[in-house]
Amino acid sequence: MSKDKGAKDTGGGGGGGNVVSMNCCVDKCGKKVDRMAFCTEHFGWFKEGLVNRAGQKPSDFDKKYQAYTTKKKVA
Ligand SMILES: [Zn+2]
Repeated sequence: MSKDKGAKDTGGGGGGGNVVSMNCCVDKCGKKVDRMAFCTEHFGWFKEGLVNRAGQKPSDFDKKYQAYTTKKKVA
């Protein structure tokens, strides 16, 4: 009758990810982080594919940004 105590104890990390910065990682933003490494607004960008995990914009950012703002107005 023994339970698997150590099963979840692999990795040895501190838990809670490895976020270092407390500011949004999108260039020139600098707002306080809300989700992952983004502020509230830029987390929305991330979900829409406007920025990647590292806060970098894709080459077709302008197009995506336009679609994003249009969608926001409609919704
Ligand atoms: Zn931001």
